[in-house]
Amino acid sequence: MKKASVIGLASSLILLVISAVLAEEKFINPTVAAGLVVIATVIVIIAVLWAAKTDYETGRYECRKCGHTFRPTYKAYLCGAHTLKKRYLKCPECGEKSWCSRKTA
Ligand SMILES: [Zn+2]
Repeated sequence: MKKASVIGLASSLILLVISAVLAEEKFINPTVAAGLVVIATVIVIIAVLWAAKTDYETGRYECRKCGHTFRPTYKAYLCGAHTLKKRYLKCPECGEKSWCSRKTA
């Protein structure tokens, strides 16, 4: 399953839960309603983190300065500026920062 579909599925789920909660507002205990919203939010957060982890584990990046292919640290991966195909990373080989192209392992 592609990560985009996982996020899409989770987002649909959260919307469904929130609409259900809002629709049943008068009949449901507010504490239960708040709990459902929290659970739905947690599901979406887990889905996003899981998708990011999968993306991180399969991703390798090629340094534009020296051509070295490497896997960034998870922190660099999460914090770095990026586009769909490129990520601004520091190469462990030459120490230069550049827009590294993503290589699918
Ligand atoms: Zn390099």
